[in-house]
Formats: sequence, C-alpha cells, structure tokens
Amino acid sequence: MLTIGCHLSSSKGYLAMGKDAVKINANTFQFFTRNPRGGNAKEIDPTDIERYLSFAGEYGIRRILAHAPYTLNACSADEHLRDFARRTMADDLARMEYTPGNCYNFHPGSHVKQGVETGISYIADMLNEILKPEQTTTVLLETMAGKGSEIGRNFEELREILDRVQLNSHMGVCLDTCHVWDGGYDIVNHLDEVLTEFDRIIGLSRLRAVHLNDSMNPLGAHKDRHAKIGEGCIGKEALIRVVNHPALKHLPFYLETPNELPGYAAEIALMREHFCD
Ligand code: FE
Ligand code: FE
Ligand code: ZN
Repeated sequence: MLTIGCHLSSSKGYLAMGKDAVKINANTFQFFTRNPRGGNAKEIDPTDIERYLSFAGEYGIRRILAHAPYTLNACSADEHLRDFARRTMADDLARMEYTPGNCYNFHPGSHVKQGVETGISYIADMLNEILKPEQTTTVLLETMAGKGSEIGRNFEELREILDRVQLNSHMGVCLDTCHVWDGGYDIVNHLDEVLTEFDRIIGLSRLRAVHLNDSMNPLGAHKDRHAKIGEGCIGKEALIRVVNHPALKHLPFYLETPNELPGYAAEIALMREHFCD
C-alpha cells in the first residue's frame, strides 16, 4: 500500500491533523513542530495526543514526519543562532517522544561564507549534543537544492555529517524530489542512476522519507521553488515513477506542493491511482 500524505497545519493539534489526513485519503502527514519561523511551541496536550494515537490506529495512519522550523541554522556564524537552533531542536525531540517511533526532519543549514567544512562540523557538533541513546525518534537530514550556501546540496555532504555523528543509528535522510532535481540530480531521465549513487554514497537503508514535489525550475537551477505535481519541470510521469520505484515504494511520501487540502486530495488520488502494489 502507498503511504502518502502532505504537509498539514499543526495549529489545531494532532487529532485535527489526523482528521484532515483522513479527509484527503492520506495515511501519513508532515507538520511543523512550531511556527515555521521559530518561536515557542504550543504546550503538549496529553489528551489530544491520546485521542490522536487511538484515531491514528483506527484509520491506519502510520509513520508521521515532523519538520523543524526552516529558519533554524545549526551552522550559523553567530554563536547565539547556533545555540537557538540547538535548544529548539532538543526541545522538539523531547516533544516527539510523546508520539514515539516517528521521524524529525531538518534543513542542515547554510554556512554563509564560513565554508562547507566549518558548516558540517557545526551541524555534527549540534547533533552530538542533542541526540540521546534512548530516543525513539529518527532525525532526518533533508537533501537541499543548494540555494546560496546551503549544506546538503549533494549526497557527499550529507554522508559527511552522518559520519561525524556518534549516535548515527538515530539518523536518516529525507529525499526531496524538487531539491535533488534543483541540485542537479536528473531523476527524470536517470532515476536508477541517481538512486544507485545515493546508495553508494549514503546507503539506501538511511532513506526514511521522500518529499514529493515538482519544481518550477530546470535541472541544476539551485532555486528551490516547489510546483504542483505535473505543473513543473519534473512532471507527473517522472513523479509516478518515483513512488513506484522498487527502492522507494515502501517509503512514506509527503507532498509539499503549493496547495490547500482539495489540491492535496487530488494529488494523493492521482498517485494512488498510478501506484502498482
Ligand atoms: Fe524542508
Ligand atoms: Fe522538502
Ligand atoms: Zn523546498
């Protein structure tokens, strides 16, 4: 069975997200742990969590994916900003344990003139401080488009981070189709080769989630502008091949396309219709 969902607003809590997911025929979803620009997280509501967990069990919502605020920069040149990223993510990971066994995705960060090496060591340092042996959450590094000085523009950079994290059994990767395409990986004409390279450099066993997006820009543009499925340069056929690829089809897929719920419902229906079990 295809595990697919989309990014949902977390403002009304977990149960509300579960209900939205079911409404659009999703069996997973992604959400921001707090305002995407940072700031305080809502208090955890144990009743909401309890109701959500039983609802999720009943409706077959399996793995869900939390996304860190995208403004966090674990490799900022500013010590206070690095510290803010570390404290925010540590707090997010503590909350994640209320819904055990899920994934938490984050953008590695932008090194801004410090160089890739420095950026990677800051990111690994942060992970070494916040990961705990007993946690049940897997932390995912997202593949990035390489806009500006983003770390994670290629598989090698992600591998380098993983290599420096002591508790890296708690780490994985989330592949964003728009980002890798913008990063120069031709998933339209050479999906097999791209996945073989991912396997060689990172290892496919590290891949835990896919962000399913079309891209407004051509291969290698390093822009990161998501498009609706079939309205961008990747196209519907290529994205259907992605969800059906033997190396990927067991993974959860998350749409982050510019849509409201009805648009997401249509894209989920499209992918389900073309999924071969
Ligand atoms: Fe992201
Ligand atoms: Fe993404
Ligand atoms: Zn993006």
